Amino acid sequence: MNAAALSALHPSVAVPRYDRGAVRAGIVHVGVGAFHRAHQAMYLDRLMNEGKALEWGICGVGVLPGDRRMRDALVAQDFLYTLVEKGPDGSQDARVIGSIVDYLLAPDDPEAVIERMASEETRIVSLTVTEGGYNFNAVTGEFQADAPGVVHDLEPGATPTTTFGLVVEALVRRRQRGLPPFTVLSCDNIQGNGDAARRSFSAFARLRGEKSGDEELGDWVEREVRFPNGMVDRITPVTTDEDRAGIAESFGVEDRWPVVCEPFCQWVLEDRFALGRPPFEDAGVQVVADVEPYELMKLRLLNASHQALCYFGYLAGYRLVHEVCQDQEFADFLLAYMDREATPTLLPVAGIDLRAYKRELIERFANPQVRDTVARLCAESSDRIPKWLLPVIRHNLDHGGDIELSVAIVASWARYAEGVDEQGEPIEVVDPLRDTLVPIARGQRDDPLAFIRNRQLFGDLVDDERFASTYRRHLASLHEHGARATLHGIVERTK
Ligand code: NAD
Repeated sequence: MNAAALSALHPSVAVPRYDRGAVRAGIVHVGVGAFHRAHQAMYLDRLMNEGKALEWGICGVGVLPGDRRMRDALVAQDFLYTLVEKGPDGSQDARVIGSIVDYLLAPDDPEAVIERMASEETRIVSLTVTEGGYNFNAVTGEFQADAPGVVHDLEPGATPTTTFGLVVEALVRRRQRGLPPFTVLSCDNIQGNGDAARRSFSAFARLRGEKSGDEELGDWVEREVRFPNGMVDRITPVTTDEDRAGIAESFGVEDRWPVVCEPFCQWVLEDRFALGRPPFEDAGVQVVADVEPYELMKLRLLNASHQALCYFGYLAGYRLVHEVCQDQEFADFLLAYMDREATPTLLPVAGIDLRAYKRELIERFANPQVRDTVARLCAESSDRIPKWLLPVIRHNLDHGGDIELSVAIVASWARYAEGVDEQGEPIEVVDPLRDTLVPIARGQRDDPLAFIRNRQLFGDLVDDERFASTYRRHLASLHEHGARATLHGIVERTK
C-alpha cells in the first residue's frame, strides 16, 4: 500500500478520487488509533471524494512512544490505509482512506508538533486519547495535577510530553502571535467529552499560568477555546494479523495496518467551532444543538452493555464478543439491563426509536465478522465503569429505580479483577490501576466490600445500604456458583 500502488489495486477497493496533493492539513489529530481511522478520517475522506473539505486534511500526532509503530506504518504507506467494513452476512466493503496527509511523533520532535498546532493553517485539534487521556478523577471530576506527565510538563521550561503540555503550549504561542485559538474536538467516549476536555485543558493551563506568572492563562483557555461535545459510535476492534492476511487475500492489498470495523457509523456533534469546520452534515454527521440525550443513550446502552457482557462473558469462557451475544441468555441479560435500568435514566432522544436501537445493538454485538474481543472490552475498566455504568446506578438509587443488573455487572468486574478465572487459570488484567485493584480484589473473599470501598472509583456508593447489600449478594453468588449460574439466576428473576 502506497500512493503509487493505488492504480493497481483490485477494482473492488475504492480509492481516493481527489488529488491528495491538493489536501491541506487544517486538522491536527492526537491519538491516531483504530477508531479515528474508522470514523473521523473516514468522514473526511467521504467529503473529499465529493470534492469538499480539501482544506481539512489531517496531520496525525502520536503523543506516546508506543505510537512509533503507527507512524512508521503510515509514513511507509504515504499515510494511506485500507478500511474494511464487515457486514454480519459476510459482506466486505474495502476502501483506501486518503484524508490523513501527515504524521508527527511527539516524543521524537515535540517542537514540530507544537508549531504545527500553532500554525495558522490548523483550525481544529481533535483527540481520541482514550477515556483515561483526560486525566480527571472519575468521582470528583477534578484534574489530577499529581500525574507524573503533568508534573513534568508543569516544570518551568519543560519540553511537553503530554497532550495537555503540547496543546497548551501551542495555544500560548497562538495567543502571543495574535492568532485565534483552534477548536479542541474530543472524540472519546466520555459523557460531555467537550466539557470534560475544557475542564482538563483549562485546569492544566491554570496550573501552568500559576507557575509561570501568567495568571490569566487558565481563564483565557476556558473562555476563548471552543470544545464542542460529540457522541461517536462505530465498533472498531484491534487489527489482527488475520485481518492483514484476510485483506491481502481478498483484495490483494499488502497493508501494514489496515482497520476493520462494523458497517454502522454515527457521529452527533455540537456546532461550536471557532474557526469553521468541514461540512460534516454532507457526510452523514448529525449536527445538533444539544448532544447530551444522544450521549446518554450511547454511553449507557452501548458502552455500559459492553461492560455488562465482558466480565460475565469472559468468566463463562467466551473470548469473542459475537459469541457472547449469540448466547440467548446473555442477550436477555443485556436487554433486561437496558430496558429496566438504563432506559429510565435517559432523556428523550429526538428522532430515535429506542426499542429498535436496543435491538439493533444486540445485532451489532452479534456480528460474527467484526471479531471484537472480550479482552478489549475488559481493558481499562477503571476508566470505563465509573464513567458509563455508575451514573446509571446513582440515578436509580436517587429515584428508587432498579439496580439489580447494574450492580451485578460491578460485581462481575470485581470478580474478574481477581486475575484468576473459574478454572484457576490466570487472567491478564489490563488496567492503569491493575497493581492496586488486583490485590484488593483477591482479598474480597474475606472482605466482600473491599473492592467498592475504593472511593476514588466508587465515591460513597459503599455507604448506600441498598447498593452494598445487592453487591454483596451478587459477589457471593459469583464466588459460590460462578458467572454462568449467577447470570442464569438473574435472567430468570427478571422474566
Ligand atoms: P487505539 O488503542 O487504537 O488508539 C488509542 C490512541 O490513543 C493511541 O494513539 C494512543 O497512543 C493514544 N493514547 C492513549 N492514551 C493516551 C494519552 N494518555 N495521551 C495521549 N494519547 C494517548 O484505540 P482506539 O480503538 O482508536 O480507541 C481510542 C478511543 O476512541 C477510545 O478510548 C474511545 O474513547 C474512542 N472510541 C473507540 C471506539 C472503538 O470501537 N474502538 C468506538 C468509539 C469511541
